[in-house]
Amino acid sequence: METGTYLGGCLCGHVRFRATGIPGNPHTCSCENCQRHSGAQTLCWVEFSRDAVEWTGEGGMPAVYRSSDYSSRSFCPKCGSTLGAVDDEPVIALVTGSFDVQDVEELRPLSHSFEDVHPNWWKTPAAG
Ligand SMILES: [Zn+2]
Ligand SMILES: [Zn+2]
Repeated sequence: METGTYLGGCLCGHVRFRATGIPGNPHTCSCENCQRHSGAQTLCWVEFSRDAVEWTGEGGMPAVYRSSDYSSRSFCPKCGSTLGAVDDEPVIALVTGSFDVQDVEELRPLSHSFEDVHPNWWKTPAAG
């Protein structure tokens, strides 16, 4: 796999993506939208420009749910997997748990959003 190419997808494989370039803003988030959307207390995120993400699975683009006045959450319509968010800005955010290869330095979270909602008993490496 060439550097700067990231493959991933949902649990059932209906929605697949290929993202290219440098992942932006690697961070974790514990906001209520992330928690309710995924069922997880914390999500790990990276961002790509919309042009850099190609939906390669048979399902094409993921389904979306309008979650705020500037963004929609994306998920697989078949298996329900959380895939990320599609912003009104030309940005696609992807949760790194959906990536085929996750042990790469570019995906390491560098900050934590909504840390106050993060359970005290759970500290991420980024949060210290
Ligand atoms: Zn699926
Ligand atoms: Zn969040």
